[in-house]
Amino acid sequence: MKADTIEIVGFHAHIYFDTDRRDAAARVREGLAQFEVQLGRWHDKPIGPHPQGMYQVAFSPPQFGKVVPWLMLHREGLNILVHPETGDDVADHTLHSLWLGEKLELNVEVLRPRTTSVRFYIIAQCGEWMFLG
Ligand SMILES: [Zn+2]
Repeated sequence: MKADTIEIVGFHAHIYFDTDRRDAAARVREGLAQFEVQLGRWHDKPIGPHPQGMYQVAFSPPQFGKVVPWLMLHREGLNILVHPETGDDVADHTLHSLWLGEKLELNVEVLRPRTTSVRFYIIAQCGEWMFLG
């Protein structure tokens, strides 16, 4: 798909924190409540592709210009991933992503479609491609 035909239907910001920075993450969360965003629940442990505790903030494209600049100024030293939602989870978290602070290493394998992991598993086990039907 050509880049200019990809449609962004929304954005996520993932606010990462260590347990000793949970209070800072809570202050950022309070500030975010002033915007039209959906605040996800707290994850104190790594989950999915995310290597650290975090919570997710979902917002629509018109909110980007309000939410992201606010985060730039008020992130309290926390690392933040901002990514679009285009329907391609792997690309959205890698090629299309924007980071505030340090870029963390994501486990993107878990974002790949399930059939792909099954195929990888079979390759690893058998050492060659097998047709799965
Ligand atoms: Zn996300």
